[in-house]
Amino acid sequence: MSQPFSIAIHGGAGTILREKMSEELKVAILSDLEKSVKAGHQILDQGGTALDAVVAAVKVMEDSPLFNAGKGSVLTNKEMVEMDASVMDGRDSNAGAIAGVRHIRNPIELARDVMLHSDHVFLMGEGAEEFGFSRGFDFTEQDYFFTERRYEQLQAMKEKNGFALSEAKYPDDRKHGTVGAVALDQQGNLAAATSTGGVTNKKFGRIGDSPIIGAGTIAENGNVAVSCTGMGEYFIRKTVAADVAARMKYLKEDVHTACETIIQGDLKTIGGEGGLIALDGRGEIHFAMNSSGMYRAAIDCDGKLSVKIYADE
Ligand code: ASP
Repeated sequence: MSQPFSIAIHGGAGTILREKMSEELKVAILSDLEKSVKAGHQILDQGGTALDAVVAAVKVMEDSPLFNAGKGSVLTNKEMVEMDASVMDGRDSNAGAIAGVRHIRNPIELARDVMLHSDHVFLMGEGAEEFGFSRGFDFTEQDYFFTERRYEQLQAMKEKNGFALSEAKYPDDRKHGTVGAVALDQQGNLAAATSTGGVTNKKFGRIGDSPIIGAGTIAENGNVAVSCTGMGEYFIRKTVAADVAARMKYLKEDVHTACETIIQGDLKTIGGEGGLIALDGRGEIHFAMNSSGMYRAAIDCDGKLSVKIYADE
């Protein structure tokens, strides 16, 4: 008999406004979330690894202009796209991460290559790209990643001179649009992946939690896999992903308690808005958020699909 397997994904948490969400956009977002979770689930169903499943799921969202990762990433102060990504394999605690890449179509695939084909865990900027090109990755022009919506968001942000919009033009302008996935495969292995364009109007080579193992991403077989989304400055300081894993491992908390304790407690206390997805060693899924929404989807151990946006769903 095959072992239980399941997968969960997110397309970012934050303030997502019902009143500004058009039916058309909602349908498009739900459809891409479903496409992503199904891409990962199909791999698990065929006996593939959790690692391949999370990378495949994240790749679908990187290719969609609707999320802040790959195509559709937010713009820096200099009107560039700079992307971060990380992946962790719970089998052997192997991990790969990249930060500040500008010309790699699917940053999550580069993070996986860093893990599998380099002696390192974390590469940045031009060096990370150079490694990618040596592995056969194509050079992708910045134009590919650019979307009108992100340009408008940047201009609005520049007017406010900050990182948070006071006027929301799009229903999810105040969303942290990172994407991520966690999976348990039929061999009992856990994996997690996270990919992002970071935050609008970022400067000075700013990097958030997403590519930092233990902050935005973690996977540990028999324990938990976690991918976070939210204002990275807070998630880094609370090492959110590692804290979920530690609470479960040492305090023997279940996945629901561990996640809620951090997201509604420690993280919120210091002003950190956002959420996470987590999946334990038995395939139990938990979505946690202290914001009004998080784009998310899952296919649980019974094969049941769910796709949701708002916190009260
Ligand atoms: N965590 C990401 C960062 O701070 C942002 C996000 O979740 O959208 O870079």
